[in-house]
Amino acid sequence: MSCNLFAAAKKQGIAPKAGTVPKEPIKEISHVVRKGETLSSIAGRYKDVTYQEIAQANNIADPNNIYVGQRLKIPNQTLVPKAPKTPKPTPQIKQPSDETSTCRPDRTGCGRCKITVKLLNKLTRNYGAWFMGKGSRSTIYKNEFKTYTQIHNFDKEKFIKILNQKMHHYGIDKSCYHVAHFLAQIIHESAHFDTTLEYGSGHNYEPGVHRDALKNGNTHYGDGKKYRGRGLLQLTWKNNYKAYGYYKGVDFVKYPEKIGNTMEYAIDVSCWFWRHKGAVYKKYNAKGDINILIDHDKKNVKLITLAVNGGYNGLSERMHIFNTILNEWGLK
Ligand SMILES: [Zn+2]
Repeated sequence: MSCNLFAAAKKQGIAPKAGTVPKEPIKEISHVVRKGETLSSIAGRYKDVTYQEIAQANNIADPNNIYVGQRLKIPNQTLVPKAPKTPKPTPQIKQPSDETSTCRPDRTGCGRCKITVKLLNKLTRNYGAWFMGKGSRSTIYKNEFKTYTQIHNFDKEKFIKILNQKMHHYGIDKSCYHVAHFLAQIIHESAHFDTTLEYGSGHNYEPGVHRDALKNGNTHYGDGKKYRGRGLLQLTWKNNYKAYGYYKGVDFVKYPEKIGNTMEYAIDVSCWFWRHKGAVYKKYNAKGDINILIDHDKKNVKLITLAVNGGYNGLSERMHIFNTILNEWGLK
């Protein structure tokens, strides 16, 4: 069989491998007519040839009289090696005109919005051990928080390292203003890095007590306590615990305390909330993404507070922290 194949190849004029590269440019190539093509459209596919020249080369009297499958000679063609694909230009992301509002989106930030222990000590006025749960006298609170041993006196450098990693992972380091807002809100919500668990009992979130309890998944008495605020931004409501659990692949409905007693989750959940669960939906079409609010209105602490808190609790303190950060970083 192999001999016959070789013979057939020879008969069809297939040149042997050696010497296949032509010395002269090929002057004529052929084109097989496909459905929907006209002589004019075919001519348009090739360089330096008109449809009249194709018609002439193929002895076609009527240019409309071609048929699908017809092999046409295309005159005047030189075989040009295919040009290498030029990579698509990457679209330039438009930079805000305000130089100071742009961070390099890498882990080290832009150099200006640098988070240091010194800065966080100053902003929190918490110069001693962090996350000791000193701010509440509630027995319910104390009983749970005393089990959060991995959180107590958390290493400050390690905290900053995780914070930077998570903010970067969730894109909260797009600009100094994103970082500044996030810091101001987590400092306030964690009572100046004193807790990852809400000081209160959670009674306010019980069905029949809070008017939004049912729509947030707190359907049974006890859900309010079970799914009270945890993490640096105090994630609340059973539905939010469920959604975050789905996102992380961890059963936080069954083990809600994990969000408070593990610093990784305490920080991660706050970043996740920031991008997905903010309480502002319609404004700027943010749909819960607090980054979008900042992109449109970079210094509006009131709007960001509404998105984080659902109201304006502690607004003046949040504003004070935010403005202190801008001062520290030399931002307007
Ligand atoms: Zn920056």
